[in-house]
Amino acid sequence: MTEKKYQIAVFAGDGVGSEIIAEALKILDVIADKKNIPMSLKEGDIGGSAYDRAGVPLPDETLELALQSDAVLLGAVGGPKWEGLDYSVRPERALLGLREKLGLYANLRPVVAFDELLAASPLKKDIVRGIDILILRELTGDVYFGRPRGVTREPDGRRTGVNTMIYTEEEIRRIAVAAFELARKRKKNLVSVDKANVLETTELWRDVVTEAGRRYPDVALGHMYVDNCAMQLIRKPSQFDVIVTTNLFGDILSDEAAMLTGSIGMLPSASLGDGRALYEPIHGSAPDIAGKNIANPLATILSAAMMLRHSLERPAEADLIEKAVTGVLQDGVRTKDIYSRGTKLVGTREMGDAVAAKLKTFLA
Ligand code: NAD
Repeated sequence: MTEKKYQIAVFAGDGVGSEIIAEALKILDVIADKKNIPMSLKEGDIGGSAYDRAGVPLPDETLELALQSDAVLLGAVGGPKWEGLDYSVRPERALLGLREKLGLYANLRPVVAFDELLAASPLKKDIVRGIDILILRELTGDVYFGRPRGVTREPDGRRTGVNTMIYTEEEIRRIAVAAFELARKRKKNLVSVDKANVLETTELWRDVVTEAGRRYPDVALGHMYVDNCAMQLIRKPSQFDVIVTTNLFGDILSDEAAMLTGSIGMLPSASLGDGRALYEPIHGSAPDIAGKNIANPLATILSAAMMLRHSLERPAEADLIEKAVTGVLQDGVRTKDIYSRGTKLVGTREMGDAVAAKLKTFLA
């Protein structure tokens, strides 16, 4: 039987995008070569650079490439150059377009505190030590998409704003199932976050998650109100394994949780749909440091590891990349954003080289 060749679309985007993607590709190259993973990578343009060339941030051929691929690896989009454009052609619109067209309903954000970087967190070391949380945010429903929406004006001039919090039970069930499946592969502890005491939509959320849980007796399911969860993430983040929540609550809680680790340059993400997926660092295009070889490529490298785990069925190889990143941090190698006295300051390319070299020692 011939082995499946994975099709991967690579969209570097704007700002530091091309610099960080180059380092992730370096790592994929090493792992594909040494572990014999058949993959074909095709590049496409997206965001501001696509707008400059084609007049739109998500050209048809880019979308087509994404639709035909098993996974998309993305850098970042946006920058001051395009800030004055109409909203319909802003670089960031390309991301919403991709999420919608690829049906990416599950957003995974792992929040891991590396022992070597504990000092980078604004919280006390004892609070963040050892945390390893996976936040699963529903990505295609809730107030961001619900209708009616908008601002209306009465004849007397008074304005009313409305957004609609809405979830069907099918939408809740599919994200709940994804959450239980992920929890099953981890510490089997799932907390579903809602506001069921005052919002009927999330009362339904709680009911459907509970129903879905009957098929996963091996996973401990708990429920938490979102306000309490926001507090618990700061008070005792180590209590969490997997958190599943709505689009709005997940948007806010995942940014809060990102701060537990200290640097935005360390955090990867995956957005998954049925048979489709997109992997990207959580940070933006960092125009202030673009082209200077100082951006931290580790979030993008860790996103590539997530791609191996979730789209290419190569969890062992994903583990190796994560181990190589940890190894490099243990060696004291640091980009500027995570630098502290006594460690070795390197640039974007040199950080990629260090991870590649470490990875090769595991694969020799
Ligand atoms: P940003 O994440 O690009 O940068 C915030 C700060 O973090 C900056 O000081 C930046 O230098 C730093 N930073 C970000 N990534 C880093 C890395 N890898 N290494 C070291 N430092 C890093 O957010 P912003 O400045 O608010 O936005 C810049 C542009 O990116 C905007 O156009 C915004 O719309 C866009 N954006 C895109 C995405 C995306 O593509 N997914 C996400 C967020 C923002």
